Amino acid sequence: MADTFDVIIVGSGPGGYVTAIRAAQLGMKVAIVERELLGGICLNWGCIPTKALLKSGEIYEQLDHLADYGLKVEKRGFDFDAVIQRSRKVAAQLNGGVTFLMKKHKIEVVMGSARLEKGQGAPTVVVGDRRLTAKHVILATGARARTIPAAGLEPDGDRVWTYREALTPKAAPKTLIVIGSGAIGIEFASFYRALGSDVTVVEALARILPVEDEEVSRAAHKAFEKRGLKFRVPANVKKLTKTKSGVAIEIEVGGKSETLEADVAIVAVGIVGNVEDMGLEALGVKIERTHIVTDGHGATGVPGLYAIGDVAGPPWLAHKASHEGVHCIEHIAGEKPANLNAPIPGCTYSTPQIASVGLTEAQAKEQGIEVKVGRFPFRVNGKAIAAGELEGFVKTVFDGKTGALIGAHMIGGEVTEMIQGFALAMTLEATEAELHATVYPHPTMSEAMHEAALDAFGKVLHI
Ligand code: NAD
Repeated sequence: MADTFDVIIVGSGPGGYVTAIRAAQLGMKVAIVERELLGGICLNWGCIPTKALLKSGEIYEQLDHLADYGLKVEKRGFDFDAVIQRSRKVAAQLNGGVTFLMKKHKIEVVMGSARLEKGQGAPTVVVGDRRLTAKHVILATGARARTIPAAGLEPDGDRVWTYREALTPKAAPKTLIVIGSGAIGIEFASFYRALGSDVTVVEALARILPVEDEEVSRAAHKAFEKRGLKFRVPANVKKLTKTKSGVAIEIEVGGKSETLEADVAIVAVGIVGNVEDMGLEALGVKIERTHIVTDGHGATGVPGLYAIGDVAGPPWLAHKASHEGVHCIEHIAGEKPANLNAPIPGCTYSTPQIASVGLTEAQAKEQGIEVKVGRFPFRVNGKAIAAGELEGFVKTVFDGKTGALIGAHMIGGEVTEMIQGFALAMTLEATEAELHATVYPHPTMSEAMHEAALDAFGKVLHI
């Protein structure tokens, strides 16, 4: 088999495999190297299997509210193993989907760990006893959970978990401490709480989901507390130790020390890029913290070597990786790729859901922008009332001078499906005029998006 390609992609997550498909569409001969499973973390250990778990949790939680809908069940319960198995099946199905797509596009899949060596042009990719060469090599090796060994936050797979162990435990812990309140921490806290675990979330910064708009963080905190989640915010984790049956965590909250005990702790304090053991140092690849430094098109500065997705830095999101990958390969092919600066929405699939795009109100003000802000609560939206989805709101942030939409923030039912409307508006550089002139279907929760845009300009209709 010929070991010469137009492009070799290392890593088959949503960054790598999407880039491979686009490269094949552009007529290139493509190889993709993967050391574990096609689809990477997202499909196998992240975005997708967690959404399956969260759906089970959400349905189970809704059983508490059946009477509100005139319904009843005699007996409720769950089979934890079946919940986990469903999530694994969903991941396996999508893994099979990527396998199919690689075959369809005649992309050669090379299983194994890749090492790079200096080549004639682009680096040579060594996988086992194969030496693969190409005009271009794209690193899409992703990232993994950050740990803090000094504080004892080193996962052991037994009582200290990362997202990996949290996806496939034998049983739900009775008591659980989640360290970190980013998307990973909050999603697992939501899932295990929905199935009845006693969950405490410990966050170092001043509020939970600290990247979100402050009003959304506050509303989320309240909504989660209503469901029985407990929080220690801001809290400094001093030390995690293992006890006979679980873990003990020493924290400092408001100058006072406190020890929390639980069966299990999930560490979700961010991620680090997978940059090790590939020979990057010898090639002179520039690495900052744990991420490869690239220019505006993914180029690393080493001839023929590119990096995209999580390994190339934040935001660490699957859709950002795919977008960057497509941009990178189209740029290599001499096409006119889409703007890399397109606004990137972020979603957290808890109950209630959280979704945002662009600047928070505070970030806009820090930039000296004179903002116009609109809000609309779901509790007065017809569809939300009919569906019993009263929690949450939509918040819009406009540049008061130009009228451009510069940020949108939502919390509530299915907002992760709605945020795309605002992302599209921002990509098209819409102002309030277009948002006001757009017709929103009635009855839908998306009407709250219209109202929030109207509210920013004193034109709200239903309040
Ligand atoms: P994160 O950086 O989003 O959140 C980590 C949180 O932990 C932060 O709030 C941070 O302040 C806190 N923290 C850090 N050190 C701490 C300590 N010692 N004690 C207490 N709290 C501490 O990271 P994550 O949640 O691990 O997720 C990793 C990445 O994956 C993120 O970029 C995230 O956006 C992405 N992701 C996205 C989704 C989604 O889109 N739904 C889901 C999962 C992960």
